[in-house]
Amino acid sequence: MSCTHALAQIPIDLHSHSYYSDGVLSPAELVQTAYNNGTALLALTDHDCTDGLAEASDCAEQLHLPFVKGVEISVTWQNTQTLHIVGLGIDPTCPELMQGLKMVRSGRLMRLKKMHDLFIEHGIEGVYEGALHYAKNPLLVGRLHIARYLVQIGLFDATHHVFRYYLTPGKIGYVPHHWASLPDVMAWIRHAKGIPVLAHPSRYGLTAKPMTELLQTFYTLGGIAIEAGSARHSVAEIQHYVDYAKQFNLEVSVGSDFHAPSADGRRVGFSPALPSHAPCVWYRWLPAASSHRNHDDRIS
Ligand code: AMP
Ligand code: MN
Ligand code: MN
Ligand code: MN
Repeated sequence: MSCTHALAQIPIDLHSHSYYSDGVLSPAELVQTAYNNGTALLALTDHDCTDGLAEASDCAEQLHLPFVKGVEISVTWQNTQTLHIVGLGIDPTCPELMQGLKMVRSGRLMRLKKMHDLFIEHGIEGVYEGALHYAKNPLLVGRLHIARYLVQIGLFDATHHVFRYYLTPGKIGYVPHHWASLPDVMAWIRHAKGIPVLAHPSRYGLTAKPMTELLQTFYTLGGIAIEAGSARHSVAEIQHYVDYAKQFNLEVSVGSDFHAPSADGRRVGFSPALPSHAPCVWYRWLPAASSHRNHDDRIS
């Protein structure tokens, strides 16, 4: 659920994508856009790769925009549940992290081939080449690249419709995939001196019991924060995950999960505001911004 415009916003964004994964902007364009929007702190968190961090970091330095090096890693939990763990403030040269990410990336082309075959069975051709056309790095080809292709050939008018009809679990174009394990990913992030954050928790559709089990495990493995302030969340969901954070002694993080300009109204550099009592993860990089927690700080 996303309702970006109805919510108070803060100029902090700890979750965004460039064309090195499934975003469309270059890292420099992403940073420049965030800067133009008046962002106070930005993290680039591409899926399973750190290739864009040097360019983004250089550009941010030139603009004097505080920048956090990040990554969003794909995890399979309890055999079937895909989770995304964001690592913030990572050292991208850490060997354990580099090797781990290489392993996570390795299965995507094979998954694309399987999806291509499923689409052929349903009369839709060209998915393999079509998706790769949109992927800068073929090893990072993903479902959003397929969705862009199906929009481009006129089958759908928006990528989220492709997800709804074809690309989510249970739909005919979905291929289950085994990503990395949660303990491994937490260890890689810890080795890289990063802060592990459970990304967009509402996306997983977990009821209270499995969510409680997940958060207990996440905390035990060194988890630090929940992305309660995801741009995907409603006001009620934000409060819900702020409460979970408190229950599990976790901090809260925020992010736009921006992929492309005006695809869904999300702006890079902005996130929903959080209740003022929530312990925010970003004081590490921007101590002076602790006031950005308050709903009173609304700027739009
Ligand atoms: P993948 O890692 O290739 O399985 O793709 C996951 C990506 O697909 C996410 O990071 C989002 O960018 C996108 N995505 C997943 N679910 C949806 C959805 N329901 N609507 C729009 N985009 C989605
Ligand atoms: Mn994505
Ligand atoms: Mn994600
Ligand atoms: Mn993301």
